[in-house]
Amino acid sequence: LSPKTLREASRRIELARRVLIAAHIQPDADALGSLLGLALALEGRGARVIRYGADPVPPYLQFLPGANRIVSQLPPRLPELVIVLDCDGMDRVGPQWERLLAAREVIRLDHHVTGEDRGEFIVADPAASSASEVVGRLLRAMKIPPTPEIATCLYAGMLMDSGRFGYSNTTAATLRMAASLVDAGADPWRTARRLYEAKTEAQVRLLGWALSHLGREDEGRIVWSAVPQGVFSRIGAQKADTEGIIDHLRAIQDIEVAMLLTETAEGQVRVSLRSRGTVDVAAVAAALGGGGHAQAAGCTVPGPLPAARRRLVAAVRQQRDAQTALRR
Ligand code: 5GP
Ligand code: MN
Repeated sequence: LSPKTLREASRRIELARRVLIAAHIQPDADALGSLLGLALALEGRGARVIRYGADPVPPYLQFLPGANRIVSQLPPRLPELVIVLDCDGMDRVGPQWERLLAAREVIRLDHHVTGEDRGEFIVADPAASSASEVVGRLLRAMKIPPTPEIATCLYAGMLMDSGRFGYSNTTAATLRMAASLVDAGADPWRTARRLYEAKTEAQVRLLGWALSHLGREDEGRIVWSAVPQGVFSRIGAQKADTEGIIDHLRAIQDIEVAMLLTETAEGQVRVSLRSRGTVDVAAVAAALGGGGHAQAAGCTVPGPLPAARRRLVAAVRQQRDAQTALRR
């Protein structure tokens, strides 16, 4: 991500008086942190900002400043500028994504390997820990010092997407940005407590169910857990309560790929994929209509669960074989 691209993005953003900012469906801390942090920064400049999210804010993220101002309906007339965050394609915004393209200008700020779909201006750094880190750099380019609220939003996004500053996307620049956000008023302990230690009992029971029903393939190089819809209702858990379960599967030594499959109320199967780096799971997910990063990706496939699981296992093997063939 060149200084020139950042300057060009700031120039375009500074010109806009009315802005709509959107992030992806099933939002996580990075989607909402980058959205809400940028929204506050632009409001501080006098812009009118609409915060848009197709899906509701999960309870554990409602502490983020401005979370209660997110609307799930697009306005009848779009502002001149739309900014899309943390999406590797416009369709990640949700069913209304095509309507956003009617805006005079669309800027997509991201940390995925991403290409332009329909003439958007792309500001992406696949090496950045998070969309929130990219927003932090944009604010620097715009010379907007983060308020404590802005710092809290961006810090939360960085903390989550970097795996608490432990994944391979964590760089010295990530840590420096995080430190500057703490200087600006973000609270590391309070944020970590909100993100990781504010679970409901149902969430922990769901984790317990998933961990006690592990499956394995290929001598344990692939581990998976598949949660049927009935388990959610029995435990009293919500769809969003699966957040973080996959990290426990990936923690098993010697695995290559971990998969969490959850059956939705509509009979679809939501899939989370994690890799230790030997298999590119972004490619696996992309082959099934999803996407993501090489070590963390996801997709939604048709049910029922056992068929979805067989399909995923086959796709992982195929990707592993393709990569092995390339290395030869
Ligand atoms: P998670 O497993 O936490 O839901 O998703 C991990 C990462 O994969 C996300 O940060 C996002 O980059 C990507 N991802 C997850 N699901 C999808 C999907 O359905 N489509 C696309 N394009 N990316 C996804
Ligand atoms: Mn992200």
